Amino acid sequence: MKGLLIAEKPSLMRDIQKVYKKMQLPFEIDFTSFVGHVVELKEPHEYKSEWKKWDLNVLPMIPERYEFRVKKSAYKVYKEIEQILKTNRYDFIINACDAGMEGENIFYSFYKRAGCKLPVKRFWTSQTTDGAISKALLNLIDEQDLLIRNLRNAAMYRSIFDWLIGLNLTRAATVKGGRIIKIGRVMTPTLAIVVKRELEILQFKPEPYFQIELDLGQFKAMWFNPETNENKLKNLEEARAVISRIGQGAVVRDIKTERKTISAPPLHSLLELQKEANKFFGFTSSETLKIAQSLYEKKLITYPRTESKHLPTAFAQNIRENLQSLATLEEYGSTVQNLISRPDNIQKTIRSKKYVDDKKLTDHHAITVTEVAIGRKKLSPQESKIYHLIARRLLAIFMPAYVIDKTAVVLQSNDVFFKANGNMVIEKGYTVLYDAFKKKQETPLPTLQVNMELPIRDAKILSKMTEPPARYTDSTLLDAMFHAGRFIEDKELQKVLKDAEGIGTSATRAEIIEKLISIGMIAREGKSFKATQFGIDVIQSIGKHDIVSPELTAIWSKKLKDIVDGQLSSSQFYKEMLTYVKQTTDGFICLDMSVAEKQVVVVGKCLKCGQPVVEGFKGYTCSNKACKFFISKMIMKGKITPTDAKKLLTGKETREIRFTWKSGKKGKAKLKLVNEKLEFVFSAPTKQTKG
Ligand SMILES: [Zn+2]
Repeated sequence: MKGLLIAEKPSLMRDIQKVYKKMQLPFEIDFTSFVGHVVELKEPHEYKSEWKKWDLNVLPMIPERYEFRVKKSAYKVYKEIEQILKTNRYDFIINACDAGMEGENIFYSFYKRAGCKLPVKRFWTSQTTDGAISKALLNLIDEQDLLIRNLRNAAMYRSIFDWLIGLNLTRAATVKGGRIIKIGRVMTPTLAIVVKRELEILQFKPEPYFQIELDLGQFKAMWFNPETNENKLKNLEEARAVISRIGQGAVVRDIKTERKTISAPPLHSLLELQKEANKFFGFTSSETLKIAQSLYEKKLITYPRTESKHLPTAFAQNIRENLQSLATLEEYGSTVQNLISRPDNIQKTIRSKKYVDDKKLTDHHAITVTEVAIGRKKLSPQESKIYHLIARRLLAIFMPAYVIDKTAVVLQSNDVFFKANGNMVIEKGYTVLYDAFKKKQETPLPTLQVNMELPIRDAKILSKMTEPPARYTDSTLLDAMFHAGRFIEDKELQKVLKDAEGIGTSATRAEIIEKLISIGMIAREGKSFKATQFGIDVIQSIGKHDIVSPELTAIWSKKLKDIVDGQLSSSQFYKEMLTYVKQTTDGFICLDMSVAEKQVVVVGKCLKCGQPVVEGFKGYTCSNKACKFFISKMIMKGKITPTDAKKLLTGKETREIRFTWKSGKKGKAKLKLVNEKLEFVFSAPTKQTKG
């Protein structure tokens, strides 16, 4: 007996291979691997030629059967595996994609496209420790297992649902709106979140208000109304009246001190890491994902695309090795020695279930450093920053809590009341690791006693303006997507969305935000996101339709879950889905879609005919349709920016651009238009014409 194991990613394949070599199994295994998704559902025109044209009359497009095509980016991988299968050397296949719905989808869409008929066994584990891997190899699950079969169906229907909704509604909206308007199950509700905030900001009218600050020498206190607890006054006269009632001194009426013990924050899920990196370094979520991916490939951190904030117990029992990898770094050396010398302390953390809990694992566990030390590996400054965030989170969970005393004091002067707050750090605990990042501001109050009278030095009116709600940043927008349940009212659906962990997944959220930017519906402004007029128009045109609400995801996630649990048959699901798609598409066709026109960016005059050259999707095109003048935005993997195009059209050289030559080698060169043809200009005296 011989099986072919196909892993979702090469790294997992190598891990399994390593364990397999040490085992005695009654069958032999060969190994290969995907690199994520290798096939995707076909485009509409590949089903029917009349679906090529974007035409309201053919909507909704509903294929009779769903077929897959090979993804361009994965063509090589697909061909290799197909070739291996054609050798007919195998009795069965082992599906070793991630243990979850997406993993099932990745495997079975390939299996169908390849027309494979071999029986399939499922390698199922969410952990990558040697123990978990060998257990999974010994207990391969039969493909007819009910749970696996239901999961596979749910996975397939989810991707079909996204296809039907995305393509039909995008086409309906685009034809109605007169420009490309992409609609998606996750993308559109995300846009709606940003637009809602933008409208709140646009409608916001700043209003003046006043506060009264009391100077007591060693500290300051703020006026408040003891009946309403309000500390703002609407007009200046009121504020002046309050000041006039203040006497020479203030008496301490009440002192409340509360001790707060704050444990180290949870370990990083991708979302947590993205939020922290955005807060400390201003990295965008996709930047953080890219950097984390690179650290993972350098074997320095564990798998980054994870929703989990917990470690498996078995992993935690070996945590010494991971900690050791940090011991060689100067800044952690003594901390690690301290931790390792107290194994009882490590066990205490494991037992607390706060950071280590087998029940809280998803497809993967929390991100943490591996047992591999940085050593001679070269890290970019960004990689180093992310690595240290992850390292600190791990060290922190074994360190003492941060303890702080929070004191609130109430003072009285005649019939006027004031409040003062103070913080005193009792134990820095794990926060010593973060000294370089954030200065925890200590605002100690002097020692006070009730009925003590303090002289008033000064009382002044602070005049301020109310401020609009803040725009979303990478960190807060990811959070809003994760907690999308907050935006819906139905309690039951709220819970469904909470269980589904919001809209999108940790692997896709950053991508969706970038997509909204690239299609011009939202824009980055400094650290935050602004909805563009186009984005606002799209959401306002769609109106109250449920595609703008996370509710849609909630309702259909519930149904998919019912398929997995065997509560709903796939055929019933498909029937309901078709009804929904038909209704929704009809609804969209009736919409009055009025959106801002696409801004035309003119980059210069055409060298052939003199008409304006405008920026298009793939390049810079002459606006005179008869003239075929065109400069691509991407030449040999080098990006031609609008500024480059402007320079070319005025006969100048571009900046130095990084190209990938046909040989596969990379190099820098400038570009220049000579007789309407692009030429490379090298700093070295060699010259080469674009072939
Ligand atoms: Zn032209």
